[in-house]
Amino acid sequence: MSQRFGAGIWHFATYVDRYATDGYGDPRSVIDAIDLAGQVNDLSVVDLNYPFFGGEFTNDQIKEALDRNKLSVIGITPEMYTREFAKGAFTNPDPGVRRRAHELITEACDVVRYFGAEYVKLWPGQDGWDYPFQVDHHALWQNSMDGVGRLASENPDLRFVIEYKPREPRVHMSYSSVARTLLAIEKIGLPNVGILLDFGHALYGGESPADSAALAIDYGRLFGMDVNDNFRSWDDDLVAGTVHPIELFEFFHVLHKNGWEGVWQLDQFPFREDSVAAANHAVDFLKTVSRALDVLDEDALAEAQANHDAVTALRIAQKALFGSW
Ligand code: FE
Ligand code: FE
Repeated sequence: MSQRFGAGIWHFATYVDRYATDGYGDPRSVIDAIDLAGQVNDLSVVDLNYPFFGGEFTNDQIKEALDRNKLSVIGITPEMYTREFAKGAFTNPDPGVRRRAHELITEACDVVRYFGAEYVKLWPGQDGWDYPFQVDHHALWQNSMDGVGRLASENPDLRFVIEYKPREPRVHMSYSSVARTLLAIEKIGLPNVGILLDFGHALYGGESPADSAALAIDYGRLFGMDVNDNFRSWDDDLVAGTVHPIELFEFFHVLHKNGWEGVWQLDQFPFREDSVAAANHAVDFLKTVSRALDVLDEDALAEAQANHDAVTALRIAQKALFGSW
């Protein structure tokens, strides 16, 4: 099979939350995490946080660890959501902090060039608001767009992807939905800005991820994706396919139907699970999805969809998916 699989490197880190403040395991450096990622079957790319976590590492040291694990880099995620940016990165009320966010992401651009990665991933998790009357919504939205637009115009050789999410850590994130993100991208009007569609964020936001993908593809802006699962009331980042298998299948069906050929990437947080086992289990499920796409009766499905015939469409889809495990 030629489908490439990837993962955010944080999948292999250990985590702290507001309860287990001592962490769910011993701290790991990015090098430890890369060595774990290398143990997953069929993983070929990773998304790396920048700055690199768990020590001072040069690009060359990271490259050496990647090479020995036969991994390459799909994207770099600048950490524009840490303490310094608690009141926002692009939307921080302090212009000095907005400038530092710009500088950090500009450094991340050079890391993308070094690794020959596909994109700079923008996850503006602190850009938003928590309370009524806290912000001037017009000004906040304008800053959201200006921050991305400036980076994209200064770095026309690179692609920037915005990963939207409804909330957390901010109560309301500025880039909260597929529609708002597309509105911003259209307004920015540059060819090198797109969406990284996180299946779980779409679910959590009350979207049908397949519809979100179709919309982003229709506007020519689906630059990347990642998958996981959740119970829809929070960004649980569970193992892909464990809670919403049929919606995940529909999501991949939309990608497949449109000839979208990017990496199928994991964004999971296995707090209490073995991270290599959790990634392998997800990749096994994604392979099942891939086989199911091969056997899906497309003509019969198209006919059922032309009639909005839910029962027939689901019989066809479920037969393909559940028969392929
Ligand atoms: Fe994600
Ligand atoms: Fe997430």
